[in-house]
Formats: sequence, structure tokens, C-alpha cells
Amino acid sequence: MKALRKLSQGAGHVDLVDIPEPTPGDGEVLIKVGSAGICGTDLHIFHGEFSKVRPPVTLGHEFCGRVVEAGPAVEKWRSGDRVAVESEAFSCGECPYCQSGLTNICEQRLAYGYSTDGGFAPFVTVRASALHRLPDAVSFQEGAMSELLAVAVHAVMECATIRKDDWVLITGPGPIGLMVLQAAKVKGARVIISGTEQDAARLQTAASVGADHIVRIGRNGILGKLGELTGGFGVRTAFECSGSKGAVNDCIQSVSRRGRIVQVGLFGSPVEINLDAVALKEITVSGAFAHNHDTWKKAIDLLGTNRIDMKSLISGEFPLKDWKQAFQLSEKGAGLKYLLYSE
Ligand SMILES: [Zn+2]
Ligand SMILES: [Zn+2]
Repeated sequence: MKALRKLSQGAGHVDLVDIPEPTPGDGEVLIKVGSAGICGTDLHIFHGEFSKVRPPVTLGHEFCGRVVEAGPAVEKWRSGDRVAVESEAFSCGECPYCQSGLTNICEQRLAYGYSTDGGFAPFVTVRASALHRLPDAVSFQEGAMSELLAVAVHAVMECATIRKDDWVLITGPGPIGLMVLQAAKVKGARVIISGTEQDAARLQTAASVGADHIVRIGRNGILGKLGELTGGFGVRTAFECSGSKGAVNDCIQSVSRRGRIVQVGLFGSPVEINLDAVALKEITVSGAFAHNHDTWKKAIDLLGTNRIDMKSLISGEFPLKDWKQAFQLSEKGAGLKYLLYSE
């Protein structure tokens, strides 16, 4: 079969190459991939900017599909089942984090799509315990987005406490930001989302998926509008989803005293932030990374309630052979999420 693989370390070295079809081992399941999303991480891997990648490896960590064959010792799943797949390929199960269900921060965590083979291929084998049944009404295209929803559920529902009518700021209207926005709306928050001039189209999508207020960051930052909306107090929680230095300082300025910032985006290098304001306002700065098994259960339940608009976040779908075009569009920031499928 033809799989899109990172062949060796460094910039480039990504190509569609022939590899044998995998067979499921003990506790594993063979999946025919239905759809797989291109993530910013895939672009970093392409450019040789992601240290966790272990080439040669098939890329793609956001995918779903249909069970083709269950390996030995798998009872729950059978051929034909439609499933979403957790991107976590391995966690040790023994460290204090794993013991408390926080496998996302296990030091030995491995992921499909960069540590072991992922979903940019017709077939992939995965651990059976990573599977979640897709609700019938959810398409494979939407199913491929469930990894993003799990990231958002972890950030909003597990790394913060959002109460009804809370003011929430989200910086960065990319796919993750728009998913965090929708998870915050499920909790009843009033959501302000900010972006730059280049984000105009994305901010429009933000409005259509539930943002209460849109702020375009001009020369004077976002403070004026925010003060006006929140009676001068600022927001109770800010989710930084852009990974840009300006945005994290916007968050520090925008949260209320005793407010919380949840850092979701990654910067790729150290950034300078104003920690004096963190002390003076008694702000809590926290982080959110990936998801664990419980997060996925919540995300799939939410997917079944029809309260999350996945479709508006999908900008295009390409056959695997046209991966270069899809990567280029993702790189340009033209649209939101691009998906790949194999014919
Ligand atoms: Zn991703
Ligand atoms: Zn562990």
C-alpha cells in the first residue's frame, strides 16, 4: 500500500512510498482509514522542526475509519465497526501520571503518526483500547476532527473551571481555537475570540460557530473592547490557542484579578512574558496538552449530541496522492482543516 511517510530526520524527506499492509497483533485492530486530518504538527514534521518524530514513520495522528480485522484477544470490536482512534499509541501504565489516568503527560507516551505509524495510509493497526465508536450520524470527515475536539474538551473541561455566563477569551481562531470556543459555549460561557487582520475569514467562521464577540487586534491590542464588555474587570479565563508572543501578553492583560490562563498553543521557542502582572493580579497560568482516555469518552459523547459544528471547520478533502497540494494549503493558512483519504 502507499503511505505518506517521514523517511529520515531533517527538513523534507516526506514522500508517498510503498510499504506492506500491516497485520494486527495481540490486542490490536486493523483499521481502513476513512479520513485523516493534516495538523500543524505534520507541517513542523515536514520542515524538520519536531523533535519527537521517529522516522521512518507514517504520518497522520487525527484519523478515524472502519475496523477490518480484530487481532487475537480482541473481543469488543468486529469488522465493519466505525471508529475514532485516540492518537496515543502507548503510555507506560505505571508512572504516577498514568496511575491517575493522566496518560497524556506520561514521559513514555508515544503517538500514532509520529512515534509509530499513523493514518496517512489506506490501513493502520492500532491498540483496540484506543477505539471509540463513532455515532451513526457522524461522518468520517467529522470523525477525523474528533482529536481536535478531545484537545478542546481537555483544555476547557479538565484544565479550567468554566461557569455559566463566565467571560472567556480565546486568542487564535485556528481549528483548535474554534473547537475550544465551541466547548466553552457548551459550558455556557460568553466568548470573545481575537485574531489578526489575516484571520478575517477564520473570525467569520468563529462567529458562525458561536462566538459572542470578535476582536480584531489592531495597534492598541484588545484591551479597549474587552474592558467595555466586561465592565472593566476582564475575562475570568483565557485560552491561548495561537502560540504567538503578542497573544500570550494579551491574555495576561485581559484576565481579571485571580483569573486563569490556559496555554494550549505551542510557540516552538522561548517567549518573553510579563510575569509582574501575573504576580500583581494573582493570575494562574496553566497548560493543556493532548487528552487521555476519559477526555475521549467525553468528546465522543459531545460529538453525538450535535452541539459541535465540525463541518464549518473543514476546508477541503484530498486523495492521499495529492498530499502536497493539501500540505501547501494548510501551510498558507488558507482555510482551516484539510483532510486526506485513500481511494
Ligand atoms: Zn494535531
Ligand atoms: Zn506513564
